[in-house]
Amino acid sequence: MTSVHLSKEQRTVAGIISSVETLEGEGMVVRRPFPKSTFSDFDPFLLLDELGPVKVEPNQAKGAPDHPHRGFETVTYLLAGRLEHKDSYGHTGTLSPGDVQWMTAGAGIVHSEVPEREFGRTGGRLHALQLWVNLPSRDKLMPPRYQEISASRIPIAQTDDGSVTVKIIAGSALGVSAVIETRTPIIYLHFTLQPGATVVQPVPRDYNTFAYVLEGEGMFGAESERGLDGQMVLFAQDGEDVTITNPVDAIAPLEVLLIGGIPLNEPVVRYGPFVMNTEDEIVQAFADYRNGRMGTIHV
Ligand code: FE
Repeated sequence: MTSVHLSKEQRTVAGIISSVETLEGEGMVVRRPFPKSTFSDFDPFLLLDELGPVKVEPNQAKGAPDHPHRGFETVTYLLAGRLEHKDSYGHTGTLSPGDVQWMTAGAGIVHSEVPEREFGRTGGRLHALQLWVNLPSRDKLMPPRYQEISASRIPIAQTDDGSVTVKIIAGSALGVSAVIETRTPIIYLHFTLQPGATVVQPVPRDYNTFAYVLEGEGMFGAESERGLDGQMVLFAQDGEDVTITNPVDAIAPLEVLLIGGIPLNEPVVRYGPFVMNTEDEIVQAFADYRNGRMGTIHV
């Protein structure tokens, strides 16, 4: 009988979740690992959407025009194309590849997320991710906040041999820390692993942590479980080190997000664009939106 010796510190994989295709906004096709009926949230995370990569034809770009949010944060990470943001608090911004927008909806905001006009006219490659991060009940009605971080301000770290590169959107990796402020401690890292490369990323034991594969096929966790493009790999809370490997025979770099945060352990009541702790708070959110208390967008 053989025994398998696993490092006490290496997390194992608790599950692999495949994305489903769904329609958002004006009819954008997105790949969504969650929420779905069998897997509604991964506390403190509420949703992950991957838009594209898709080749948008001229004048065919679709977006998500004016709509509200309350009770959580939306994090948009653009990989290709150009998106335009406007909201009822007067924030405007254009996202270019590599830029991140961290919007804390808090008490309520109305925003529009659409392709930038010139990009819409010419078309081109579009690829974006959106993550929803829940807010603790004490912050659900906080004043909205908008952080836009251009690609040039997002720290990048690399191993000495150049086999692993990481963009540090939140948290820290390879000794480098992010510039974004988050309400609760979050890591959001974009790793690029060359064939044969392995990264061991320490993540505090109490963080719920998942990887999402953007491109390629990786090996995850203490038992080297396989995760493919479009799949979400859930790690168990059984160690501190998260291990990711791009197999030596891979033909391309592995592009993967590693996202983690401390669970809030609070009731989640969600309805469309609002995520609160009770049904009454959802009813209140609809009333406040209808009464214009989340504002309107003035261009
Ligand atoms: Fe939105």
